[in-house]
Amino acid sequence: MKITANNPDRNSWLKVEENSDFPIQNIPFGVFLSDDNITTIGTRIGEYAIDLAVLHQLNYFEGIPLTDDIFMQDSLNDFISCGKTTWRLIRNRIADIFDTENSKLKDNKKHRKKAIYNIKDIEMLLPVDIGDYTDFYSSKEHATNVGTMFRDPDNALLPNWLHIPVGYHGRSSSIVVSGTKIRRPKGQTLPNGESQPIFGPSKLVDFELEMGFITTAANKLGKSISINEAEDQIFGMVLLNDWSARDIQKWEYVPLGPFLAKNFASTISPWIVTMDALDPFRTKGPEQDPKPLEYLQQDGENSYDINLQVAIKPKKQEEKVVSNSNFKYMYWTMNQQLAHHTVNGCNVRSGDLYGSGTISGPTKDSYGSMLELTWKGTNPIQMSDGTERKFINNGDTVILRGHCKNDKVRIGFGECKGRIRKAK
Ligand code: CA
Repeated sequence: MKITANNPDRNSWLKVEENSDFPIQNIPFGVFLSDDNITTIGTRIGEYAIDLAVLHQLNYFEGIPLTDDIFMQDSLNDFISCGKTTWRLIRNRIADIFDTENSKLKDNKKHRKKAIYNIKDIEMLLPVDIGDYTDFYSSKEHATNVGTMFRDPDNALLPNWLHIPVGYHGRSSSIVVSGTKIRRPKGQTLPNGESQPIFGPSKLVDFELEMGFITTAANKLGKSISINEAEDQIFGMVLLNDWSARDIQKWEYVPLGPFLAKNFASTISPWIVTMDALDPFRTKGPEQDPKPLEYLQQDGENSYDINLQVAIKPKKQEEKVVSNSNFKYMYWTMNQQLAHHTVNGCNVRSGDLYGSGTISGPTKDSYGSMLELTWKGTNPIQMSDGTERKFINNGDTVILRGHCKNDKVRIGFGECKGRIRKAK
């Protein structure tokens, strides 16, 4: 089935600013709380949020097999379970409804009033009920930087790294939507030169620039998803800030890996941009040498050209952009990650979230964490107000942004932001 929603020549009768992340070709999915306190599933065009439950009730999705309450939910999990054909039918239909050529809803003031909100009048909620969260470690530059800093510059990558999309199982209960304030975590750390740990607020809170993908219920326990099937099981992507406490991490991570340094919070952007919307921005990932094992081999363009940016905004000050990167630098693709994740028969479910791992580019201004940008704090970054940052201070807001762009269309993710509050 053709993705007619992606037609770059299409315009909407809803106003869309020129550099908007949400033209009619995007049609992301999210969950919001309306000003009459109703939680619903919606999409976004320009500065408008559209209530899909209302459109469904008013019969705008006639002919598409859907249950009556599919959009009257506080998560997208059931809709995601409907599968790729339904996702595509709904996006195509929404594009038609809001196309300048179609006056059905445009000329129906009563329906418009019921279904369309100004984005300022709604509150975005977590788009999915995340059962499981897995975080990969798939940026070669990031893994090399961390290996260089903490182990051995000559053997920065561990022997398995070029063969396995390395990952660990994270915590889903503390994943929050953009805008949620983050409490500085407390925990055990080992001060430099000491042999006994101390307890207190982390001094080294960091962001991790990541993207996340969300799957449908793709396989039963004991079955795997082949690399060529993987793509159809991925609903879409979000921006992900996998907050980290580097001092807690350093003390706790041996031998089982990340724990309390990572699970105090992770922030995601509220609108899930579908893989269909990102399709025009496919690109090849980096050359993989050595060649991965057969179950991880795939031809074609399996990565995506997504510009990424991180800014830090101190309280009441101008923001400072600290990193410009791109998703296409990722060494392992999402298809490889999902094929690997399930190759042992591990089942994945609708609404599960997978982090890419910190995305670092090849240059120093494209690194995806303060750990790397300031090289463990040895090169502090100057903020707009003249103060310096080695890591994130109380009151700082970290903002991730992402968008794809070609000659005709810009598809974006909006913002993924969170402010660090002082420890309790
Ligand atoms: Ca991470």
